[in-house]
Amino acid sequence: MSKQLILALSKGRILDETLPLLAEAGITPAEDLRASRKLLFDTNMPGVKLVVIRATDVPTYVQLGAADVGIAGKDVLLEHGAEGLYEPIDLEIARCRLMTAGVQGVEPARARLRVATKFVNVARRYYAAQGIQAEVIKLYGAMELAPMMNLADEIVDIVDTGNTLRANGMEPRELIAPISTRLVVNQAAMTMKHERIKPLLEGMRAAVARRRAA
Ligand code: AMP
Repeated sequence: MSKQLILALSKGRILDETLPLLAEAGITPAEDLRASRKLLFDTNMPGVKLVVIRATDVPTYVQLGAADVGIAGKDVLLEHGAEGLYEPIDLEIARCRLMTAGVQGVEPARARLRVATKFVNVARRYYAAQGIQAEVIKLYGAMELAPMMNLADEIVDIVDTGNTLRANGMEPRELIAPISTRLVVNQAAMTMKHERIKPLLEGMRAAVARRRAA
């Protein structure tokens, strides 16, 4: 098997939960990812390399074939659109919810809403599907601040415990989508590198199933 296989991993909280699953599927980085400033790593498997990049860049790498396989949150995939990607495995890690949220006790407006979010595509689709006219404002962080500063009426954001919202006088409202981490595969690579990708998918599926049974 001469063809190399590139896996694109999301930096941050997903990485810590991804590495044990990859290890169970037989792939371990050749060096400590956290201790290095490198971005491209060899692994114990000849011809299998890892790139560690921003979660929002993972679908782009896989879609354009710069990476064959990617690991990213469903939130990122929904926002990106993820055309040209197969999504064969729900890794069932980093679970959370993509939700709308507003100021506690304030009746959600049904007329023209201002919505602050980094998930602008998801938000536009969601409010349009609800028949609500929304002006969607792109922010890169601290969404919870937007209603307090009169920048927006609602936000669309990731909610886990809801503590961040409550600490800022906000409440979760509508569920847009349950989120977990997914393994995605470039469609051409799925065919061209099937003999390399198949055992990886089997190993990851088995690791997820063991977790579920534990
Ligand atoms: P919480 O206060 O527990 O509701 O956590 C909410 C914040 O944590 C959000 O603003 C997110 O930025 C972050 N967060 C929680 N879970 C995840 C996840 N699975 N993936 C990405 N970000 C998350």
